Amino acid sequence: MCGIVGIYSHNQSKNVASHIYYGLYALQHRGQESAGIATHNGCDLSTFGGMGLVCDVFNNGKIDGLDGNVGIGHVRYSTTGKSKLENSQPFVSEFQGGNIAIAHNGDIINSMELREELKAEGHHFRSTTDSEVICHMLSREYIKQQDMVESIRNVSRQLIGSYSIVVMVNSDLYVVRDPVGIKPLALGEKGDLKMVASESVAFDVIGANYVRDVKPGEIILLNDKITSYDMVKPENARRAHCMFEYVYFARPDSMLDGKDVYNVRLNIGRTLHQEYPVDADVVMPVPDSAITAAIGYSRESGLPYGEGLIKNRYIGRTFIMPTQEERETSVRLKMNPIKSELEGKRIVLVDDSIVRGTTSKALIDVLKEAGVKEVHLRVGCPPIISPCYYGIAMATKKELVAANKSVEQIRDDLGVDSLGYLSIESLKKCIGIDEDNLCMGCLNEKYPTQLPKDLQEYESCRC
Ligand code: SF4
Repeated sequence: MCGIVGIYSHNQSKNVASHIYYGLYALQHRGQESAGIATHNGCDLSTFGGMGLVCDVFNNGKIDGLDGNVGIGHVRYSTTGKSKLENSQPFVSEFQGGNIAIAHNGDIINSMELREELKAEGHHFRSTTDSEVICHMLSREYIKQQDMVESIRNVSRQLIGSYSIVVMVNSDLYVVRDPVGIKPLALGEKGDLKMVASESVAFDVIGANYVRDVKPGEIILLNDKITSYDMVKPENARRAHCMFEYVYFARPDSMLDGKDVYNVRLNIGRTLHQEYPVDADVVMPVPDSAITAAIGYSRESGLPYGEGLIKNRYIGRTFIMPTQEERETSVRLKMNPIKSELEGKRIVLVDDSIVRGTTSKALIDVLKEAGVKEVHLRVGCPPIISPCYYGIAMATKKELVAANKSVEQIRDDLGVDSLGYLSIESLKKCIGIDEDNLCMGCLNEKYPTQLPKDLQEYESCRC
């Protein structure tokens, strides 16, 4: 779970660093651990990154120091590799004749084997991330091929996993999306600027237009024009867009692979009412990610929409906090009940998903202490029964509550009066993409790529 941005300006004297900065700002929800930007002015590469939020890492002076009409940026949440400065991106690798800088969103399942192979050849790593592995592989291949598109094709053949990548080879900007398009990546344009970003909201913030999504298995060279190359034959392409982006992760004001995320979430709420109607006084969301689905439930049911929990917006997402202890402590810090809206009420509480169940339990306790009479929990994501191997750091199978308990047991553990999860069939309809073109591996254990040979070892490396 990371956010990436790449921008090229035809105007050689233009500095794109501030546009990248704003783009990263719009993608802050995709990662809050570190942020970084690399730019190139045709002669030299400039780069700067640090730990923390985009606004903490950069100031005017830092942005002014990043010179160039082409650049890439990254916000990070760690899946492979710990949260530390050496793991922040973009990564830069030097070779005779220049630099390669890379920013990556995704997770490479076979990165350990590839790293060992590179180490044996004498490559030195400054980080523990899979993104640096890709960076070394690209520079090794480019030295041999002297053709970046061929190099990307060759490297892609060796990668198993998910990757949306922006690569700057000196002042050329390449864009790559994995063959099944697990992670989102969109293309935008504004005057002399051409840009890509994990989500279209990064275009909105600088007034650029969403042009289209980068196709799965597509390589794009962005310069004065947009030149597209295929990594896989289009007729062989199957798509596997991550369903969780639509349910939870992406911003509701984004377009993902042609779908309006806001509408998907409204559909989820409407369908939750069709599948699990209940007599209640009010529909309330777990803010912020379930707001749109709760509005959908309210509209469909005719029950009033209300707020019962107020979120402290200055705390990051609990779900993507790296340790369990941090996650549990932050729930109460993050959500405060409005007693006058809750006391004596029968509420339909809409949440986007249940992962471990610990956050939901803490929230239900908060609501009960505030005096609710009944809680009917409706969940916009079907039961998550298996881990994600593509960069969403959910949990191990042992920690996933739905992998180990029935819906009735979960209802009982949470202490709610009723519990309803959206069905997989309905989820596909709500998104508007069929099963063959979605990744739902964490819901049905049908993953779109090979999995690690030793799942236990893989999970222990990532915890
Ligand atoms: S396994 Fe689940 S969370 Fe991971 S990419 Fe697939 S749908 Fe998304």
